[in-house]
Amino acid sequence: MKRWLCALLLPAYCYAGAAVAPDYALAPQRIADGVWWFEGLQEHFTRSNGGNIANTGFIVGRDGVVVIDSGPSRQYGEQMRKQVEAHSGGKKIVEVLITHAHPDHFLGNQAFNGIRIEALPQTVAVIAEQGETLSANLYRLVGAWMQGTEVRKPEALTQTGERVIGGRKLRLIALQGHTEADLAVYDEASRTLFAGDLVFLHRAATTPNANIAKWLAALDALQKIDFQTLVPGHGPVVHGPEAIAETRAYLVWLRDSLHAAAANGLDMMEVANQPIPERFRSLAVVQEEHTRSVSHLYPAMELEALSPAK
Ligand SMILES: [Zn+2]
Repeated sequence: MKRWLCALLLPAYCYAGAAVAPDYALAPQRIADGVWWFEGLQEHFTRSNGGNIANTGFIVGRDGVVVIDSGPSRQYGEQMRKQVEAHSGGKKIVEVLITHAHPDHFLGNQAFNGIRIEALPQTVAVIAEQGETLSANLYRLVGAWMQGTEVRKPEALTQTGERVIGGRKLRLIALQGHTEADLAVYDEASRTLFAGDLVFLHRAATTPNANIAKWLAALDALQKIDFQTLVPGHGPVVHGPEAIAETRAYLVWLRDSLHAAAANGLDMMEVANQPIPERFRSLAVVQEEHTRSVSHLYPAMELEALSPAK
């Protein structure tokens, strides 16, 4: 097949056939002095996006660079590392922080050989237990982009709160709700908050490991932080509270609509087919995520509705 036609129709397959590494075309965007992010696509995992659907970033300190999340594959990690090194004025990467145990955020770890990678203890435990399954699943969804990707487990991050890494004062904030352990990273100098997947903007939240009550409490905690810029796990960078507000509104609606459906005895198909309110219809991939959320969250709510009142 001609290369251009190939690239148009099935890029990952073609690149693999030509033994050329797929190109994520990563280009970091500057947020503030020494603070950068890579924007993920507002899509599901596909064979054309290679799993590049989450935001990642890095912070350049006086003595070194801190990377936040390593992306979905070894190729992504390697291409990200090149870009980080090209934009950090010759400073070395001294630390990689993984926000949580979802495959689009940690499967690039291999690219950071010889560098300390840390995540919250529960994130490390989940990666140790489910990393291979998560990786195999991503291979199935995005194909050749994953070539050579293997799971590298982070070290357990035992010291949260204020930490100076690479000569930069950071606050490492341990929360939960999107998963069992969600790390947010706040850079004091620029007042930039990397919120991980606790915050989504213009995209429906994913809930395979969610606890909505804890997630809402985490959003309360994030809202109290005096940030100037917020980098959500998915969606554009913002300078105000709107991303937290949007995530909260979506989760509250999800919780309340599923509870009401359970109280009314609807079955799972009926719930999944309920119309999405107008105000959420413009969120990327909302229909698919809503269907997935019903399957993740509804069985427990049905059980709760059926159990006798205590
Ligand atoms: Zn996630």
